[in-house]
Amino acid sequence: MPIDEKFWNPYRMIPVREKIERRPPQTHEKFRGKSGIISCTLENLTPLFVGKNQLNQQAFLTRNGKPVIPGSSLKGMLRSLSEVIGGGCNITDSKGQYNKSLAACNNASNLCIACRMFGMRSNARVHTGNVSVGDALIREDTPETKNFQILLSSCGTRHEPFYRSPKTGQLDGKSRKYYFHQPLRTDSVPNVPEKLKPHAWDIKALLPSHHFDFEVHFSNLTQDELELLMYALVLEEECQSVIGDEKLKLSGPLRHKIGNAKPLGLGSCHITINKLVYLADPKQRFLSLQQSGDVVYEENPLKEEISNLTSRYPADISETMQQLRKMLIWDINDSRDFAYPDYYWFQNPVNSQKILKKI
Ligand SMILES: [Zn+2]
Repeated sequence: MPIDEKFWNPYRMIPVREKIERRPPQTHEKFRGKSGIISCTLENLTPLFVGKNQLNQQAFLTRNGKPVIPGSSLKGMLRSLSEVIGGGCNITDSKGQYNKSLAACNNASNLCIACRMFGMRSNARVHTGNVSVGDALIREDTPETKNFQILLSSCGTRHEPFYRSPKTGQLDGKSRKYYFHQPLRTDSVPNVPEKLKPHAWDIKALLPSHHFDFEVHFSNLTQDELELLMYALVLEEECQSVIGDEKLKLSGPLRHKIGNAKPLGLGSCHITINKLVYLADPKQRFLSLQQSGDVVYEENPLKEEISNLTSRYPADISETMQQLRKMLIWDINDSRDFAYPDYYWFQNPVNSQKILKKI
């Protein structure tokens, strides 16, 4: 919410890590590090909508007639989390609009952790990345959808004070935009005001509790890259956060958000890992014809391996991680009212310098 208002603005800017460590990526010529496949399932906790394309945003993207979440969306979500958690560059900021040191990497042989894992392109040189994500295919035969009327843009104006970094009070590129979860939004979105109805879109979103299966392939990851990938997938199961001056206490797991209409509460989802396979060095595969040498983790050994790989993150109480947790926490008893200020609020000169309340 802006200060002096009861409702909560759907997003906040959270501080990024200010130091980016860059080094050469592991290339594919030599087999080094860890390679393998992670099999995952995504379940949506609030309605989910993934628009077909720019021209036809009202239809859910499909493959063979069934809803699909493209691997590129999943990869984008994992990448952006990895940039924040792992201290990576901002891949969308090629020039370093506000801050040169946080700009997208531009030297393919000296990359931040996110570019080493997910790839980068600069001028003629490309690092293809060591992580790829396949499309997520829906498991249910007859998916349940519901029509929602939504506004995709608010008032068309960008209220600059809302975008300042909370710590510095400046537009300095040292923060990222994240949307709160809205657990109350299981089958409704806010009503579109009568006069804005001509601008509203009718979308058919999937109701909660659908399941999508997908695979993440990785090759030649260093240990810290694999740990970051694993954490970006599973996040944390038990978290407590105290939010804002009103000391709102939330507890629950950390969850992801994907797809369109995030400001309206859509797209909250839970990713689980069903299986992890470490692939053997190809040389060993040729030597041993009986066994592939692959190592498969499922059930309890999988849980143990995941908790070993991700153990250092829950202990990280840096400002970046604490603020990120406040945005990703999923508490089913969170009954906050989320809304944007209306047109008249933005037009009122009294509000021109008002910032969002700190969280
Ligand atoms: Zn980078």
